[in-house]
Amino acid sequence: MALSVFQVSKARPKRLCPPAFAAWIFFAYPMRYTTQFLLSALSAEQFPSPDVPEIAFLGRSNVGKSSLLNTLTGEKAAKVSSTPGRTRAINFFALLDPSQQRKMVFADLPGYGYAKISKSISSGWPAFIEPYLAIRSTLKLCICLVDSNVPPQQSDSQLIDWLRAAGREFAVVATKIDRLSGNERTRSLLALKQGLELDEVLAVSAKTGYGVKELWARIEATGGQQN
Ligand code: GDP
Repeated sequence: MALSVFQVSKARPKRLCPPAFAAWIFFAYPMRYTTQFLLSALSAEQFPSPDVPEIAFLGRSNVGKSSLLNTLTGEKAAKVSSTPGRTRAINFFALLDPSQQRKMVFADLPGYGYAKISKSISSGWPAFIEPYLAIRSTLKLCICLVDSNVPPQQSDSQLIDWLRAAGREFAVVATKIDRLSGNERTRSLLALKQGLELDEVLAVSAKTGYGVKELWARIEATGGQQN
């Protein structure tokens, strides 16, 4: 099955995480890891050798992926991933524990566009993305980001269907939840669940930190699995 994808477009991520907030996040969720940039891969040959469990982050451009990565890892990941030339690459980061052991790898995949869905992967997403998702042996969890302020999108639905068919474990995370009031949240999450045929959607905000602890718990539950 071909994974339809779209134009890759990438604006520089806005700085959403002022130092005071970064400090608050640190104390609220003491970081157990330091983040180390590994490499930007533009072809399958460049993927790092598979060792520790890998978590992939996927989402349409502007969904808030860079901001969430900022919040999860400190600013390094988002900065690297938004560097011109790296926005079409898979950017790999190692998460090191306090003894500098590599515990997990985060793979930041290029954002797919909001433009009309194209017929085939080759017209949008770089060709090596689909094989990455299909065969990467260490890939344990795909975090699919969807914008809680936007109704379910066909592009997201296609990606999720593709992951299901490929037998990939995934978690759908609704971003920017701080922009919605209580009732709007409930409605939006219900619409996402129905539209994307999901039992669960995890709501997060990179701005307030809402849901970040739960997201870390989900990542660690999977990232702790051995290959
Ligand atoms: P990316 O293209 O997926 O990496 O998205 P960015 O992280 O660059 O975010 C896109 C826009 O959404 C920026 O203007 C961010 O400031 C904004 N944004 C991202 N996350 C949040 C959030 O949790 N809350 C709010 N209110 N805005 C957010």
